[in-house]
Amino acid sequence: PDHPLFAGLPGDVSVSFEFFPPKNEKMEAQLWDAIGQLAPLDPSFVSVTYGAGGTTRERTHATVARLVQETDLIPAAHLTCVGASKGEIAEIADQYWEAGVRRLVALRGDPPPESGGTFVPHPEGYASAAELVEGLARSHDFDISVAAYPEVHPEAASAEADLDNLKRKLDAGAARAITQFFFSTDAYFRFLDKALAAGITAPILPGIMPVTSFAAIRRMSGNTEIPGWMVALFEGLDERPGPRTLVAAVAAADLCRRLYAGGVRDFHFYTLNKAEQAYTICHLLGLRPKA
Ligand code: FAD
Repeated sequence: PDHPLFAGLPGDVSVSFEFFPPKNEKMEAQLWDAIGQLAPLDPSFVSVTYGAGGTTRERTHATVARLVQETDLIPAAHLTCVGASKGEIAEIADQYWEAGVRRLVALRGDPPPESGGTFVPHPEGYASAAELVEGLARSHDFDISVAAYPEVHPEAASAEADLDNLKRKLDAGAARAITQFFFSTDAYFRFLDKALAAGITAPILPGIMPVTSFAAIRRMSGNTEIPGWMVALFEGLDERPGPRTLVAAVAAADLCRRLYAGGVRDFHFYTLNKAEQAYTICHLLGLRPKA
């Protein structure tokens, strides 16, 4: 139907969902409820993050292993360079491979807060995501995704240097990139143009973050521009979680609609282990549950 509420066409888009490993039983129940609601949308993969400093190593593994055992979903385990030697990373990779996991998301990770914000590699570890990708690609035939930053990673010397780094990660064996969240479609499309001009042909999936806490978004945003219209949109909603969630879903659906209009057909959602917003946006993108 020709109406702005109908962004995509049924069967025309594909999606993936990102979750984080639960800390306790209550959060575990919430996660599996979200997975149960989103699974019928037939995601191309679902990814599970890895906590800062490797603090969630076991929990990430347990979540991914359960996805393999109990669902038909294709899980992707995030893995970082933080606080681990190359030998330890190799062991983790072996364990994933043996558990039937074939996809990884390879990241450098953020420096722990006590390091004063500078990333210091483990003495026997990997110093960057590109090195990690190279090591993982040598260990098994993993399908590897990496991170990309349309608005440039905060530590990068320049936008060009950051793009060179993305190219190194893909040349080292990564199959695709997933972006940091963004709210400016222009920033994303400009980045795709620059990537193409730099010879990058691998897919760069937009990472879509529906706002659940505006304060948290401000904290996490790094270089991500928060446009003035967005600040205005969420004004007065700090103490109104219900309306805030609905407004956030509408805003993210509109972002996706504009991406769709620009040719995007693959979308990656940061779900924060909640199904409602992601499901709503997918529905507005024309996605319907698999029979
Ligand atoms: P890299 O690609 O290694 O880049 C880090 C910085 O170093 C960049 O500024 C880059 O330009 C620069 N750089 C790299 N190599 C060189 C070089 N040779 N010379 C000069 N500069 C160089 N964090 C977690 O802890 N757990 C997660 O599960 C997680 N999941 C994420 C998922 C996605 C989709 C995204 C976008 C981010 C995720 N992060 C996660 C955050 C990520 O770990 C941080 O953003 C981290 O600061 C950078 O990781 P990276 O893999 O992009 O690093």
